[in-house]
Amino acid sequence: MISPTLILIFGVAGLIIGSFLNVCIYRLPRRESVAWPASRCPACERELAWFENIPVGSWVALRGRCRSCGAGISMVYPIVEAVTALVFVGGLLVYGLSWLLIVRLLFACALIVLFAIDLEHQILPNVITLPGIVAGFVASWFLPPGWLSSLIGIAIGGGVLWAIAEAYYRVRGQEGLGMGDVKMLAMIGAFLGWPLTLVTLVFASFAGSVVGVGLMATGRGTMQAALPFGTFLALGAMTAALIGEPLLAWYLSFYR
Ligand SMILES: [Zn+2]
Repeated sequence: MISPTLILIFGVAGLIIGSFLNVCIYRLPRRESVAWPASRCPACERELAWFENIPVGSWVALRGRCRSCGAGISMVYPIVEAVTALVFVGGLLVYGLSWLLIVRLLFACALIVLFAIDLEHQILPNVITLPGIVAGFVASWFLPPGWLSSLIGIAIGGGVLWAIAEAYYRVRGQEGLGMGDVKMLAMIGAFLGWPLTLVTLVFASFAGSVVGVGLMATGRGTMQAALPFGTFLALGAMTAALIGEPLLAWYLSFYR
């Protein structure tokens, strides 16, 4: 039974873990430790007091500025915290209190970090994608989608994107997709299994095309400018994890 208290606990846990995800998002691309030292202002490097570290609340109370140097603090931080809290509550409502919920929340945390890092730095760190492939595969021995679907998911996720990346490189003579995208889709395959991996790829390509065409139409982008595909893969995988299965069943019902 999912009580209001449980929803509240998951919301607060999501805020706190979202705050840790921010540390990962800031430090992993800079190759800094996520465990040490305490959080600092990126501009003046002053260590933050406990009341400046409260998820969402501190940013709002300080109006997005550092208390001593006045440097602007990115809106990405409170957004990541709020989104993580929403994902935790949403996950609880969709999956119920279960082992699958814990695995899917871990997966969602990895996706949130990859989403934000790829958006800002256009990289997808191996320290997330590679352990992610292993964790997704190990979990699938005990939980959905099952080890075989997970294994095929890894092979298809990695293989299909690798083939697209390779073909693009041969035709255009430049890199369109990086190996980071390939490893990320393999990780998605490990957690969600092969059918939802294909759904993820369709969602991500569609969203990427819409945004790409939008940017071109408004003159803010060109055919050449590489969009961070990992960002779209993260959105696609989240959507697939939530509505992929009923959507796939509905789609396949036309072929029976
Ligand atoms: Zn400062």
